Amino acid sequence: MAVIYPGSFDPVTYGHLDIIKRASKKFDKVIVTILNNPSKKALFDVQKRVELLENTTKHLDNIVIDSFSGLLVDYAKKNDVSTIIKGLRAISDFEYEFQMAHTNTMLDENIETIFLMTSNKYSFLSSSVVKEISKFDGDVSKLVPEIVEYNLNKKFRGDI
Ligand code: ADP
Repeated sequence: MAVIYPGSFDPVTYGHLDIIKRASKKFDKVIVTILNNPSKKALFDVQKRVELLENTTKHLDNIVIDSFSGLLVDYAKKNDVSTIIKGLRAISDFEYEFQMAHTNTMLDENIETIFLMTSNKYSFLSSSVVKEISKFDGDVSKLVPEIVEYNLNKKFRGDI
């Protein structure tokens, strides 16, 4: 069975990679897809986010990296996939994810959303936290792979 793992991935963190790795063991194919949402200001453009995801998942052979705009249910239908994977961190994620899952099923009754519980050590980790730390020159080496750290440094401090 193939599943879709959607998100902003701005940028990809060890929290995302943990979900991707665990999903890749349970499902035949995991399509990690970046929502291209022009109304949400991102730090990295979609092309760079794709590149970072490709680079950090290349050791897994059943992962496809893609991007989409518009409704997730339409993207899922186009790809002939009816299962969405999401990660759940704190209770704060629950309300939003609950709403999204029901909305997507309302739009397309074939769509199911499956949740993977965050690994304990990444339960506090989000892309926004990583950006905040990196912006103020903090150490993000335990939160993101080296290539992501390099690109954050480049973004916030120019070429180094
Ligand atoms: P964020 O910007 O908060 O990291 P994304 O939109 O990129 O969020 O997240 C995409 C999906 O990955 C969501 O289902 C989110 O709950 C999940 N996710 C993000 N970080 C983690 C984490 N540390 N552990 C588990 N799931 C996560």
